Amino acid sequence: MGKDYRQIIADTYASILSQENLGKVPDYIPEIACIDENKFGVSFTDLNGFNFGVGDFEEKFSIQSISKIFALSFTYEKLGEELWKRVDVEPSGTAFNSLVQLEADHGIPRNPFINAGALVICDVLLENCKNPKDEILLYIRELTDDESADFNEKVAASEMQNSFRNAAMANYMKSFGNIRSQPDAVIELYCHLCSIEMSCRQLSKSLLYLANGGKLPGSNKHIISLNKARRINAILLTCGFYDESGEFSFLVGLPGKSGVGGGIIALYPEHYCIAVWSPKLNPKGNSYRGMKFLQEFTMQTRESIF
Ligand code: GLU
Repeated sequence: MGKDYRQIIADTYASILSQENLGKVPDYIPEIACIDENKFGVSFTDLNGFNFGVGDFEEKFSIQSISKIFALSFTYEKLGEELWKRVDVEPSGTAFNSLVQLEADHGIPRNPFINAGALVICDVLLENCKNPKDEILLYIRELTDDESADFNEKVAASEMQNSFRNAAMANYMKSFGNIRSQPDAVIELYCHLCSIEMSCRQLSKSLLYLANGGKLPGSNKHIISLNKARRINAILLTCGFYDESGEFSFLVGLPGKSGVGGGIIALYPEHYCIAVWSPKLNPKGNSYRGMKFLQEFTMQTRESIF
């Protein structure tokens, strides 16, 4: 008999809601600092199209670093294995915005999900696309089968004005030749990708292709090859949660990615995708309730990739 995901999600949601909501909304992006910190939504979508959501799952929020998955997937499909000459696939063990490893690593970021790596991906996008912003947006809209995912220009502008660390990284990597466009253009694109707003419902739909061997469920259209999908999932598992990636793997055991907007997305290959949003972050920068929810959810379902 199949599991009653609806019941498990509703019970887990109620249990987490009844517990303390610890953590802190990040204050370094002013437009995000003013969000209602008690927002909490969960959405589950499986490969057959069954969707179930609870709480604020239809409200859009800033997906922030979750957009790094779309940028990577789009770029990897375009460039193929060449991409790995410019960005590595190793967990960093440092904060998402750390500069510390770049000197020792000669300007090659440890992975595409830390800021330095995502800046390189943005640079590759600028080199290879006529209009990278529009192309990524179209890509996300195709994945969600929904036209409404969009940039929030206020958030993008607010981030651009506060992008001192990202600017430092982009300039530093440029000195090694691993950024080819002008750093300002790279940061402009990066901040726009971070500013994309989506709901948990849209997010839980958007990554189904990675749970489905690179194909859109339904149409079976290839978004990326099976091997590339497997590799992105491997990077999600090892690098998706900043320097808490080991912990997420240990406690949850699914490939996933978080963002400082409080979103987390995780997928169970060949089965489903689940997105959680709760803005307060733990000290490692991951959603406090999101982590707790997914830990409890996988305890209940007893499903992980291990
Ligand atoms: N816009 C954020 C930054 O670059 C993204 C961080 C994140 O979500 O990890 O600082």
